[in-house]
Formats: sequence, C-alpha cells, structure tokens
Amino acid sequence: MTRNGKRAPAALLWFREDLRLADNPALDAALRSGAAVTALYVLDDETEGQRALGGASRWWLARSLRSLAKDCAAIGLPFAIRRGKAGIAVPHAARETGVGAVFWNRRYGAAEARADVAIRAELEGEGIAVEDFNGRLLHEPWDVKSRAGEPLRVFSPFWRAAMTRGEPRAPLPRPTSSRVSAGPALDGVDVESLALDPTKPDWAGGLRNAWEPGEAGARKALGAFLDSGLKGYAETRDRPDMSATSRMSPYLRFGEVSPHQLWHAVEAAAADGSARAGDVEKFRAELGWREFSYHLLQNFPDLASRNVQQRFDDFPWSAPTQGDVRAWRKGLTGYPIVDAGMRQLWTTGWLHNRVRMIVASFLIKDLLIDWREGEAWFWDTLVDADPANNAASWQWVAGTGADAAPYFRVFNPSLQGARHDPDGAYVRAFVPELTRVPAKWIHAPWAAPPGVLEAAGVSLGRDYPKRIVDHDAARSRALAAFGSLKTRT
Ligand code: FAD
Repeated sequence: MTRNGKRAPAALLWFREDLRLADNPALDAALRSGAAVTALYVLDDETEGQRALGGASRWWLARSLRSLAKDCAAIGLPFAIRRGKAGIAVPHAARETGVGAVFWNRRYGAAEARADVAIRAELEGEGIAVEDFNGRLLHEPWDVKSRAGEPLRVFSPFWRAAMTRGEPRAPLPRPTSSRVSAGPALDGVDVESLALDPTKPDWAGGLRNAWEPGEAGARKALGAFLDSGLKGYAETRDRPDMSATSRMSPYLRFGEVSPHQLWHAVEAAAADGSARAGDVEKFRAELGWREFSYHLLQNFPDLASRNVQQRFDDFPWSAPTQGDVRAWRKGLTGYPIVDAGMRQLWTTGWLHNRVRMIVASFLIKDLLIDWREGEAWFWDTLVDADPANNAASWQWVAGTGADAAPYFRVFNPSLQGARHDPDGAYVRAFVPELTRVPAKWIHAPWAAPPGVLEAAGVSLGRDYPKRIVDHDAARSRALAAFGSLKTRT
C-alpha cells in the first residue's frame, strides 16, 4: 500500500545478473513500493554487442534459474522466464502486466548499459517508470576517482579512493511471503526449453559434482568458507592444494550473493574471533580487485578484445598452432602445474587464482600466444566467466592492461609449482599419471633421474607428455619479443 492507503500499480522486477532474493535492492524497492510484483528473467541471445554466455556459464545459469524459480514460488512471487531480445521482451511484459514501474539492478557491460538506456526510454515513453539500483558492486565504478576527478588505472590508489567512500551499506533482508503482494502472472518457458545444458557430449559431469548453483548453494559455500577457510586466508590463499579461498566467484558472477553480503559476513566472522583482521582485510582487498576490474571495464568498454595499452597492438604474437593450443587446453603441456590447472578448469569449471596466473603466463609468455585466445577459452569453460574480471586479469598477466604485471615477469611453472603446491597434492589430484612421482620431482619430472620415474611407473612421452617447450628458451624468446616492442615505442 502507498502512504494514502491506495495500492500502487503493479510493478515488474527484471532479474538480470542478480539471481537472488536476499540483498537485492531492486526487489526490495519494488516490494517497498507497495505494488503487486511480478518477476521476469529474459534469456537474451539477440541484443547486438552482448557477448553470448560460454558453455559452463550456460550450465550454471540453468541451475541458478531453477533455484530462483523455487525461491520465488516459496515467497509467493510470480516469476516467468522468457527468451528473446530484452528490448522487445521487457516492454512487452510490462504492457502485458499493465505495470506502472519496472525495477532492475544495473549492469556494467557497454552493450548491456546501452540496451538499458533504450529500454528505459521506451518504457518511460509509455508512462512506465523505471527504477534502477546498484546490486552488484560495493561502489559504482564512476564514483571512484582520483583527487583530480579522473578514473584510476592502478589498483592501490583505486582501492584507497574506494575506501574513502565509507563502509559499504549493510545487506538488505531476504523478503518473506508476508512482504509480497503477488502481481499478475506472466506466461513463461521452462528452463529445459532454453537448452542451456550440454548434450552431445554431456561434458558437465564434473561441474555437477563440484557445484550447487543458486542462492542456497551460495549460502552453504560461504558458511563453509567462514567456518574453515577465512582463518589464515591471508597466508594460504595462494595454495591451490588447500581449500583456502571462498569459491564465491560463480555466485558473485550470477549475483546469487552480493559483495555487500560478503563484506559484512567476514567482519562478523572476525568479530566472533574465528578470523583475524588481516584475513578480513586481505579478503576484502580481493573484492576490491573485482571492483577495480569493473572500474576498468567502465573506462575501457572493449576490455575483452582490445589491449588497454595500444602499443601492444603491434605485438608479434605467434600464430597459434593447433598443437600448442590443444595441448594447453587439454592439460598436456608436460608442465604438471599447468596441466593440473587446465584439467581442473575443464573438469570443474573453476581454477585457483594462483594457477590461473600460471596457466595464463604459460600461454602468453611461454607459447607467445595472444592473450585473447586464453581469455576466450576461459570465457567458455569457467563457471565464473566474468566480463570484467576475466578480461582485466588476462590483460594483467599479458602486461597489456592498465595496472599490469611488467612484461619481464614470466612465471616459471616448476618453481611456481614447488612454491605453491610443495607436496604435489594439487598436481596429483588432477594429473593421476604422476601420482607416484615423489614431491621433489613432481613439478619437473623431466629432470628426475630415470630410476625415479621408472619406479613411479612414468615414461615421459608415453604415460605423460614431454614438455612442449623448454621454459628457459621460451622465456628468452618472450623477453626478446616484449623487449623489441619496448624499444619500438
Ligand atoms: P577468493 O580468493 O575467495 O576471493 C573472493 C572474491 O574476490 C572472488 O570470488 C572474486 O570475485 C574476487 N577476486 C579474487 N581475486 C580476484 C582477482 N585477481 N581479480 C578480480 N577479482 C578477484 N575471476 C572471476 O570472478 N571471473 C573470471 O572470469 C576470472 N578470470 C580470471 C582470469 C585470469 C587469467 C586470472 C589470473 C584471474 C581471473 N579471475 C577471475 C580472478 C580470480 O582468479 C578469481 O576471482 C578467483 O580465483 C575466484 O576464486 P574465489 O572465489 O575462491 O576467490
């Protein structure tokens, strides 16, 4: 009801990258308006410029939508899924339900933002109000600026400037049925008809074992992290052999959890003594990297396709040979930590951050393959494939980005493996061929005395690949290529 006791006209809540009920500012505002609310999701493969979701993301989305539909039903919120161009489907649904307002949380891709401007204009032209909110980021990307009012290109000053904007707001409560006045029902399609799941072949078995998409899955995963991962996070977050990070990334990607919820949840965990201030600060800084990626996306809308530093436009990338790219994708490079990572990615749709950096550096620097080749593979195979984080991180590793790793930083896969997976447990989990290789040699089996490999039942080239490149030679080649660019500009 409105303040004068009259019922506000019905409202449409358009779910997009915010597939949750709790801490959903658009949903909260729609309910608070007193309107009878109908919720809608549109699978839009048609709007020009919008990047189609990759295979693993589509798999995730199917489950997330089913979970959301169940959650909406539980609180009596009518929810429909439609397919088509949002610019047509959303105004159409608004007319059909006769709503007076449409509520949504903002999106930050350039094509999505453009579409939203056009949809808003169309709705407002018909006298339908549009109310939009920030449901995705701690701070709007355009609100964080240098003292001179400029966008920031380096993480530390960005994060300092973000922190001066004050504590992120507290999460909004999850609505219960008593708050919901059900709007008109809309016809929709069922999730199966969206054909989001892989069929021929069905490669998603490992994803099914690894994940529970949806808001309830996010709550469980967060609970597990707060119970046993946050304590010591600052020290162990670089260890792929341990369960030491939150695995919140796909839930954040699809908006099944908000950064505000995470920001405050870690504080609460620290307050009851189960984590240290340093762990909380480090975890929040990682959320900060996510914010920074969105800041970069805002300022470089082509982040996934164009070098931020244009001098790299002339970089002499190698023509990617089928063999090299295939070996990298399949985890058959002969470098155990790279292979474990690429197989973890293929099997589970996720990859530890340290290993993302190692495999990306290997593709770009050891194989001298354009970072966009890797970005595209990650886009297709990651359940957390994110338009800002993925593109910004690939550009960071390549050295082509804003606050990028210097070009001469070339990860040595064996040293990285020995440092971050000292017992080889991570490699053994994903490269079973090497299970019996002792820890001392597991990150460099080619250097092991023949007797050691024989005892472990490994013959290189037969049971496990020989290295496709020699890292030292590849490193020199990369430095020469990157160095030549430096002198040319
Ligand atoms: P935690 O350590 O628990 O961190 C919590 C959250 O902070 C993450 O969920 C994520 O949202 C954010 N975060 C952590 N590290 C980073 C980072 N370096 N940059 C931006 N945000 C970060 N992250 C994605 O969400 N989607 C991607 O598509 C993606 N692609 C990447 C590609 C490459 C080449 C690299 C090097 C990194 C990429 N990352 C991406 C960043 C990072 O690897 C993942 O966010 C992280 O591994 C997710 O695991 P987690 O949730 O357990 O992280």
